[in-house]
Amino acid sequence: MARGGDQSWRPGESDGQPEERTAQNSRAKMVKETQYYDILGVKPSASPEEIKKAYRKLALKYHPDKNPDEGEKFKLISQAYEVLSDPKKRDIYDQGGEQAIKEGGSGSPSFSSPMDIFDMFFGGGGRMARERRGKNVVHQLSVTLEDLYNGVTKKLALQKNVICEKCEGVGGKKGSVEKCPLCKGRGMQVHIQQVGPGVVQQIQTVCVECKGQGERISPRDRCEICGGAKVTREKKIIEVHVEKGMKDGQKILFHGEGDQEPELEPGDVIIVLDQKDHSVFQRRGHDLIMKMKIQLSEALCGFKKMIKTLDDRVLVITSKAGEVIKHGDLKCVHDEGMPIYKAPLEKGTLIIQFLVTFPEKHWLPPDKLPQLEALLPPRHKVRVTDDMDQVELKEFDPSEQGWRQHREAYEDDDDGPRAGVQCQTA
Ligand SMILES: [Zn+2]
Ligand SMILES: [Zn+2]
Repeated sequence: MARGGDQSWRPGESDGQPEERTAQNSRAKMVKETQYYDILGVKPSASPEEIKKAYRKLALKYHPDKNPDEGEKFKLISQAYEVLSDPKKRDIYDQGGEQAIKEGGSGSPSFSSPMDIFDMFFGGGGRMARERRGKNVVHQLSVTLEDLYNGVTKKLALQKNVICEKCEGVGGKKGSVEKCPLCKGRGMQVHIQQVGPGVVQQIQTVCVECKGQGERISPRDRCEICGGAKVTREKKIIEVHVEKGMKDGQKILFHGEGDQEPELEPGDVIIVLDQKDHSVFQRRGHDLIMKMKIQLSEALCGFKKMIKTLDDRVLVITSKAGEVIKHGDLKCVHDEGMPIYKAPLEKGTLIIQFLVTFPEKHWLPPDKLPQLEALLPPRHKVRVTDDMDQVELKEFDPSEQGWRQHREAYEDDDDGPRAGVQCQTA
């Protein structure tokens, strides 16, 4: 099992083009259950990168700041990520399912708090930092591959808490803050409830009067701007400089631009780049990968083709006459990949995978076939003897359900062909 360490790119992988799906490059993996994968919306064969990306998108979408009613969903996303992002836990889950995870280790299922997972992922510094500082504001910024290639400045409007100017964060007139009379400053209320004969239950709830603050300002003394909340909600425009070569998932930090709270250091604004898929290029590190369809005649006799770059130049590539390009062949152009972050004059490699389009059935009148054959390399002669069985060759549909299930049971997902991305200078 080379999962995790093995990042080598394989042609035909996750390209979503059914015409190229063959027995060799399809990937399948046997796992006991798929619930955690389903929560994150990924396949059991997903790479660590894919799992990270799925978590990033879902966690931002279902974070209580954005979706206060989806706390349960946020928790599930976090638990699934906690297991699948750890190679050891992922193996345990793949083999034994959720049950094995819950039985593993000390016996009790110990998941980290969803907020800690979130803060660790987005760089918020965990619970300690959270208690001493205002909240971080995490925002996703959608960018195109062109944006990441050329660099771009985007304006983003954010809502954030700012210390109220009128009362300077007191919430009312100076000296108007008093200990909450309802909870006596504890912030919690205790209710005693009779649940059965002679059995009482103690329920603690956050104090309704002070909302857990332990203090309050009587209504007539409250600041008329913030209504006693000490902070106001303000719209702030920030300029995000997306630099050449930045990548999907990269974070851009605006120190101290997050929520303000009285007596706390303000939190940060964290912008997370989210790259939209590109119709032509796939990025892999510094390299760009594209597929190019060529005709059989071009594959055999050479061609000139044009490629439009991400900064709108046109590259002309040439395959010389007599240079045979096979279906799936990889070629590359140096210095036409992505600019390197912080060193944008250097660029990665553009890798082109050629897909040869064969002619349709009966494209050539049968009487012309001998002419074609005379030009092609000779075929192997076969001598059929009486003890052989002549059988009929039929079309086969790889999407047939029965075959797919059978295949998944036997195929290990690491046996696919590797692209030894070898560069030949064109
Ligand atoms: Zn105020
Ligand atoms: Zn209270």
